[in-house]
Amino acid sequence: MAAIQLGIGQSVGGLSSKPERDMLMQDFGVVEVVFFPGEGSNLTPAHHYSDFRFKTYAPVAFRYFRHLFGIQPDDFMLSLCDEHLKELSNPGASGSIFYLTYDDEFIIKTVQHKEAEFLQKLLPGYFLNISQNKRTLLPKFYGLYCYQCGGKNIRFTVMNNLLPSTVKLHEKYDMKGSTYKRKASKHERAKKYPTLKDLDFMENHPDGLSMEKDTYDALIKTLQRDTRVLESFKIMDYSLLMGIYNLDLANKEKQLGQSSDVDHSPSQEQGYTPNAEMSSQGHSGLQRGKSFKTRIGQYSTPMESIQGNRELTEDLDEDEDVPSDYENGTPCPGGIPARNAKGERLLIYLGIIDILQSFRLKKRLEHTVKSMVIDGDTISVHRPSYYAQRFLQFHATRVFKKAQPGSTALKHSPS
Ligand code: ATP
Ligand code: CA
Ligand code: CA
Repeated sequence: MAAIQLGIGQSVGGLSSKPERDMLMQDFGVVEVVFFPGEGSNLTPAHHYSDFRFKTYAPVAFRYFRHLFGIQPDDFMLSLCDEHLKELSNPGASGSIFYLTYDDEFIIKTVQHKEAEFLQKLLPGYFLNISQNKRTLLPKFYGLYCYQCGGKNIRFTVMNNLLPSTVKLHEKYDMKGSTYKRKASKHERAKKYPTLKDLDFMENHPDGLSMEKDTYDALIKTLQRDTRVLESFKIMDYSLLMGIYNLDLANKEKQLGQSSDVDHSPSQEQGYTPNAEMSSQGHSGLQRGKSFKTRIGQYSTPMESIQGNRELTEDLDEDEDVPSDYENGTPCPGGIPARNAKGERLLIYLGIIDILQSFRLKKRLEHTVKSMVIDGDTISVHRPSYYAQRFLQFHATRVFKKAQPGSTALKHSPS
């Protein structure tokens, strides 16, 4: 981990000597390799780990992406290289390892060779999309790297963290719009902060979650555009990751003395850990650092992802933004206001994840085999356009609902 942090630091720091310029098509294909001998070199510091090589894929392209997402090189390095990273337990089956930066901003995910290759191929199209469209819930890729040592390759991407770990989220779902095998395992459900799935959602929220019309429309429109892009790349098997913070429940918990607010102390066990059983490696930087306490995603919140950037929304009438009582006293603003069937006020954190599986690369065999065995309608592995359609349909009708005008007054007075 420390070697990887050295690698990222050198890679991002070294870029500052290259002048900013417009991107060229060739930039997407560049791979920069730097050797890190233990004794140090004129490019790299001395270190106590085994000699290693560090590859940076498309350094100039990712610098441009970070710039587009409003991330300064210094801040990026500070978040990733200055403190230990926290390892998250992964409920997925792929064997990927996840790390979270101390300030909650970034996630490192190890990826397979095929996935790294696919991301490289995706970059020009991804670039096209994010430069045209700021309102997106697609993952924000900030870097793709490979650590090489002793014949081993560890490839990983740096992405945006979608779920605040400093507030206790009440529920968390990973949904695909499929019902086939989409129930969290007993083992997962026994966890303190389980990641639930589609069938669990339908059981817990048979009436879905309601939103004000404008919010609902903005969200569904964003999902529509995003799934269209994914479909165009023949991507499938992605999920919508969603965390729910229940304001009314949090207030009750507070009164009962089980505060669910910001956890300033790394030693206290009350802070929400998005992937459960977070193991803090070494000392934690929770008391230091930037303004992570006040909002998830210093760089982009879910609300901004569906409504456009701050700069854009600031010109609009303030009232059209998140209702103020949702922001006031919320340890983690930027969530999307909604309500459950009981009328409780919720803040929703969400984004699309796991988009590096292309149907063409991996799924063809699985598809033909499984579709012979099981009804193709409910199967989770299906062709990309069908997958996108079903994903959208599920979220637009079962998960999110437009509040009836007047019936659910979403704007409550602060409590
Ligand atoms: P599989 O391929 O088996 O589905 P995977 O290893 O590819 O799994 P993902 O599906 O990308 O992993 O993610 C697994 C879990 O990790 C998610 O359900 C979520 O709990 C967490 N996670 C993934 N990406 C993020 C993110 N950007 N922010 C917060 N949590 C995340
Ligand atoms: Ca997944
Ligand atoms: Ca995966």
